[in-house]
Amino acid sequence: MINKLCIIGVGLIGGSLARALKQAEQVEHIIGCGRNAEHLGRAVELGVIDSFNTDIEAAVSDADVIVLAMPVGAMDEIFTKIDHAVKDTAVITDVGSVKGNVVRAAQQSLVSKLNNFVPGHPIAGTEKSGVEASFAELYKGQRIILTPLENTDPTATRIVTEMWHAAGAEVTALSVEHHDEVLAATSHLPHALAYTLVDTLAHMHERREIFQYAAGGFKDFTRIASSDPEMWHDICLANRDALLDMLQRYSNDLNQLTEAIEKGDSDFILNMFNRAKSARDQNC
Ligand code: NAP
Repeated sequence: MINKLCIIGVGLIGGSLARALKQAEQVEHIIGCGRNAEHLGRAVELGVIDSFNTDIEAAVSDADVIVLAMPVGAMDEIFTKIDHAVKDTAVITDVGSVKGNVVRAAQQSLVSKLNNFVPGHPIAGTEKSGVEASFAELYKGQRIILTPLENTDPTATRIVTEMWHAAGAEVTALSVEHHDEVLAATSHLPHALAYTLVDTLAHMHERREIFQYAAGGFKDFTRIASSDPEMWHDICLANRDALLDMLQRYSNDLNQLTEAIEKGDSDFILNMFNRAKSARDQNC
């Protein structure tokens, strides 16, 4: 049971965690914090949080657990603000989709409380944003990846693990580097591709007709291009090296397919599509 939880960034991810912990009766009081008092007031109205404060230092001052749930580009600034404002015993975690960049920011700016920081990433979400889109069941049966550092206090890791269990999730641990490589392949590359595909079509002058005839496959493939652009901008730049590596691999394969289509190379095309179908059928 967490006595006082502070969530900085009460949007889809932070709001859903708050709802899940309240539903499980695993938290006494949740204080929300962020840039916008109107949005935070709405979160109180919806019963997602109990109170809010836009002054970060004041909001975190007596919290037992602090969750950073804003875009990854803003984490550095938040670490600096909370470093001397939190209690010595407070446990700090985050939900950022990239870990290397967030950990480097924490190492620079969360100097005095670094051992209390447990980096995390819920592998759950939707293309919607904001507290209105949050729901208590988001994490049920979903995976949370924690990437504790060499000196992370094991008690802090245990408290964060128990928090996610209470929200209905399974918790696994990965190294920071491995996390960023895996997520570049499975999440960051698909988002970059979906945004690019929709943008390519939107540039074509017949676009009204193209979107009018878009069927299920197109909608399935491009749903994630409705995700928040600021958040994905931050993720692409924060995981730059691993994402560039994946984009290069994908471009090479796409070039090979382009060549095979030009040459009418049926064997190449059928082999590639068969390999992809069986990989997806077996693993997804
Ligand atoms: P969201 O719904 O847009 O919520 C983000 C929240 O952060 C909003 O409440 C926003 O509030 C607040 N915020 C934005 N900039 C801020 C700043 N500079 N200082 C303080 N608060 C700020 O986004 P989300 O989908 O919950 O994503 C939040 C985090 O979760 C991101 O780091 C993302 O990488 C990670 N994540 C997302 C998903 C997903 O599928 N969406 C999945 C896993 C992890 P105001 O705009 O009212 O200030």
